[in-house]
Amino acid sequence: MTERAYIGMGSNLADPAAQLRNALEAMTRLPGTRLAGVSSFYVSDSLLPGQPRYTNAVAALDTDLAPLQLLDALQAIELDQGRERLERWGPRTLDLDILLFGEQLIDVPRLQVPHYHMQARAFVLYPLAELDADLQLPDGRRLDQMLAACPFEGLERLPALQ
Ligand code: ATP
Ligand code: MG
Ligand code: MG
Repeated sequence: MTERAYIGMGSNLADPAAQLRNALEAMTRLPGTRLAGVSSFYVSDSLLPGQPRYTNAVAALDTDLAPLQLLDALQAIELDQGRERLERWGPRTLDLDILLFGEQLIDVPRLQVPHYHMQARAFVLYPLAELDADLQLPDGRRLDQMLAACPFEGLERLPALQ
Protein backbone atom coordinates (compact mmCIF):
# COMPACT_ATOMS: atom_id res chain seq x y z
CA MET A 1 0.00 0.00 0.00
CA THR A 2 1.30 3.44 -0.87
CA GLU A 3 1.44 5.92 1.98
CA ARG A 4 2.29 9.62 2.06
CA ALA A 5 5.19 10.24 4.44
CA TYR A 6 6.51 13.65 5.42
CA ILE A 7 10.24 13.85 6.14
CA GLY A 8 11.81 16.60 8.20
CA MET A 9 15.29 17.38 6.87
CA GLY A 10 18.03 19.33 8.65
CA SER A 11 21.73 20.09 8.37
CA ASN A 12 24.19 22.50 9.96
CA LEU A 13 27.53 21.21 8.70
CA ALA A 14 29.43 20.98 5.42
CA ASP A 15 27.27 23.17 3.14
CA PRO A 16 23.80 22.49 4.61
CA ALA A 17 21.79 23.42 1.52
CA ALA A 18 23.91 21.07 -0.60
CA GLN A 19 23.39 18.33 2.01
CA LEU A 20 19.61 18.76 1.70
CA ARG A 21 19.71 18.77 -2.10
CA ASN A 22 21.84 15.63 -2.05
CA ALA A 23 19.44 13.92 0.35
CA LEU A 24 16.48 14.82 -1.89
CA GLU A 25 18.28 13.24 -4.81
CA ALA A 26 18.99 10.13 -2.72
CA MET A 27 15.34 9.86 -1.64
CA THR A 28 14.22 9.87 -5.28
CA ARG A 29 16.27 6.69 -5.70
CA LEU A 30 14.61 4.76 -2.86
CA PRO A 31 12.75 1.65 -4.02
CA GLY A 32 8.98 1.94 -4.32
CA THR A 33 9.17 5.62 -3.47
CA ARG A 34 8.31 8.84 -5.28
CA LEU A 35 9.33 12.32 -4.19
CA ALA A 36 5.95 14.08 -4.25
CA GLY A 37 6.96 17.52 -3.03
CA VAL A 38 9.61 19.66 -1.36
CA SER A 39 9.17 22.81 0.71
CA SER A 40 11.37 25.88 0.56
CA PHE A 41 14.57 25.76 2.55
CA TYR A 42 14.57 27.65 5.86
CA VAL A 43 17.52 28.89 7.92
CA SER A 44 17.39 29.39 11.69
CA ASP A 45 19.64 29.56 14.72
CA SER A 46 20.36 26.31 16.48
CA LEU A 47 18.13 25.62 19.48
CA LEU A 48 21.30 24.80 21.39
CA PRO A 49 23.93 27.55 21.75
CA GLY A 50 27.31 27.33 20.06
CA GLN A 51 26.25 25.45 16.93
CA PRO A 52 26.18 26.72 13.34
CA ARG A 53 22.82 27.81 11.93
CA TYR A 54 20.56 25.09 10.56
CA THR A 55 19.01 24.72 7.15
CA ASN A 56 15.74 22.77 7.23
CA ALA A 57 13.08 21.63 4.79
CA VAL A 58 10.28 19.09 4.55
CA ALA A 59 9.83 16.53 1.78
CA ALA A 60 6.72 14.54 0.88
CA LEU A 61 7.32 10.95 -0.17
CA ASP A 62 4.76 8.54 -1.58
CA THR A 63 6.16 5.18 -0.60
CA ASP A 64 5.39 1.48 -0.65
CA LEU A 65 8.05 0.89 2.02
CA ALA A 66 6.96 -0.06 5.53
CA PRO A 67 7.73 2.55 8.22
CA LEU A 68 10.80 0.74 9.60
CA GLN A 69 12.07 0.06 6.08
CA LEU A 70 11.79 3.76 5.37
CA LEU A 71 13.62 4.58 8.63
CA ASP A 72 16.42 2.16 7.66
CA ALA A 73 16.68 3.77 4.23
CA LEU A 74 16.76 7.31 5.66
CA GLN A 75 19.40 6.36 8.23
CA ALA A 76 21.50 4.84 5.41
CA ILE A 77 21.29 8.18 3.55
CA GLU A 78 22.31 10.02 6.75
CA LEU A 79 25.35 7.74 7.15
CA ASP A 80 26.20 8.08 3.48
CA GLN A 81 26.38 11.83 3.98
CA GLY A 82 28.71 11.53 6.93
CA ARG A 83 26.27 11.69 9.84
CA GLU A 84 28.02 11.02 13.15
CA ARG A 85 26.16 10.70 16.43
CA LEU A 86 28.68 12.03 18.95
CA GLU A 87 26.28 13.83 21.29
CA ARG A 88 22.51 14.12 21.44
CA TRP A 89 21.31 17.03 19.31
CA GLY A 90 24.90 17.71 18.23
CA PRO A 91 25.76 19.40 14.93
CA ARG A 92 25.10 17.17 11.94
CA THR A 93 25.61 16.92 8.21
CA LEU A 94 22.15 15.45 7.80
CA ASP A 95 19.10 14.57 9.87
CA LEU A 96 16.11 12.88 8.26
CA ASP A 97 13.12 12.40 10.57
CA ILE A 98 9.81 10.77 9.74
CA LEU A 99 7.26 13.39 10.81
CA LEU A 100 4.14 11.59 9.60
CA PHE A 101 3.47 8.28 7.88
CA GLY A 102 -0.01 8.24 6.36
CA GLU A 103 -2.56 8.06 9.14
CA GLN A 104 -0.40 5.74 11.23
CA LEU A 105 0.34 6.17 14.92
CA ILE A 106 3.60 4.34 15.57
CA ASP A 107 5.24 3.81 18.95
CA VAL A 108 7.98 1.21 18.89
CA PRO A 109 11.48 1.62 20.37
CA ARG A 110 13.09 2.78 17.11
CA LEU A 111 10.26 4.89 15.78
CA GLN A 112 7.60 7.21 17.11
CA VAL A 113 5.26 8.85 14.61
CA PRO A 114 4.02 11.59 14.60
CA HIS A 115 7.50 12.85 15.44
CA TYR A 116 7.54 13.88 19.11
CA HIS A 117 8.97 17.37 18.84
CA MET A 118 7.28 18.59 15.70
CA GLN A 119 4.66 20.76 17.40
CA ALA A 120 7.34 22.94 19.03
CA ARG A 121 9.52 23.39 15.94
CA ALA A 122 8.81 26.27 13.57
CA PHE A 123 11.43 24.87 11.14
CA VAL A 124 9.23 21.76 10.80
CA LEU A 125 5.72 23.23 10.90
CA TYR A 126 6.14 26.09 8.39
CA PRO A 127 7.73 24.03 5.64
CA LEU A 128 5.20 21.26 6.26
CA ALA A 129 2.37 23.77 5.83
CA GLU A 130 3.77 24.71 2.42
CA LEU A 131 3.09 21.15 1.31
CA ASP A 132 -0.35 20.72 2.93
CA ALA A 133 -1.78 23.60 4.95
CA ASP A 134 -4.95 21.61 5.77
CA LEU A 135 -3.11 18.69 7.30
CA GLN A 136 -4.74 16.90 10.21
CA LEU A 137 -2.61 14.56 12.28
CA PRO A 138 -3.80 11.02 13.04
CA ASP A 139 -4.02 11.95 16.73
CA GLY A 140 -6.56 14.67 15.89
CA ARG A 141 -4.28 17.71 16.10
CA ARG A 142 -4.56 20.18 13.23
CA LEU A 143 -1.52 21.75 11.61
CA ASP A 144 -3.09 25.22 11.50
CA GLN A 145 -3.63 25.11 15.27
CA MET A 146 -0.06 23.97 15.85
CA LEU A 147 1.17 26.83 13.65
CA ALA A 148 -0.88 29.37 15.58
CA ALA A 149 0.96 28.31 18.74
CA CYS A 150 4.41 28.38 17.13
CA PRO A 151 5.74 31.80 16.03
CA PHE A 152 7.56 32.10 12.69
CA GLU A 153 10.06 34.37 14.44
CA GLY A 154 13.70 33.49 13.86
CA LEU A 155 13.02 31.55 10.67
CA GLU A 156 14.37 32.82 7.36
CA ARG A 157 12.84 31.38 4.21
CA LEU A 158 15.35 31.12 1.40
CA PRO A 159 14.27 32.03 -2.12
CA ALA A 160 13.70 29.06 -4.43
CA LEU A 161 16.63 28.03 -6.58
CA GLN A 162 16.33 29.06 -10.23
P1 ATP B 1 15.08 14.65 17.44
O1 ATP B 1 14.36 13.34 17.50
O2 ATP B 1 14.88 15.50 18.66
O3 ATP B 1 14.80 15.42 16.17
P2 ATP B 1 17.54 13.73 16.33
O4 ATP B 1 16.78 13.73 15.04
O5 ATP B 1 18.82 14.48 16.36
O6 ATP B 1 16.63 14.28 17.51
P3 ATP B 1 18.64 11.20 15.88
O7 ATP B 1 20.01 11.04 16.47
O8 ATP B 1 18.54 11.53 14.41
O9 ATP B 1 17.83 12.24 16.74
O10 ATP B 1 17.79 9.87 16.06
C1 ATP B 1 17.80 9.15 17.27
C2 ATP B 1 16.85 7.98 17.12
O11 ATP B 1 15.51 8.43 17.05
C3 ATP B 1 17.01 7.16 15.85
O12 ATP B 1 17.99 6.18 15.99
C4 ATP B 1 15.61 6.58 15.62
O13 ATP B 1 15.55 5.20 15.93
C5 ATP B 1 14.75 7.34 16.61
N1 ATP B 1 13.47 7.83 16.09
C6 ATP B 1 12.31 7.73 16.77
N2 ATP B 1 11.29 8.25 16.09
C7 ATP B 1 11.83 8.71 14.92
C8 ATP B 1 11.27 9.38 13.79
N3 ATP B 1 9.95 9.68 13.76
N4 ATP B 1 12.09 9.68 12.76
C9 ATP B 1 13.41 9.38 12.82
N5 ATP B 1 14.02 8.76 13.88
C10 ATP B 1 13.22 8.43 14.91
MG1 MG C 1 15.73 15.46 14.36
MG1 MG D 1 16.83 12.27 13.56
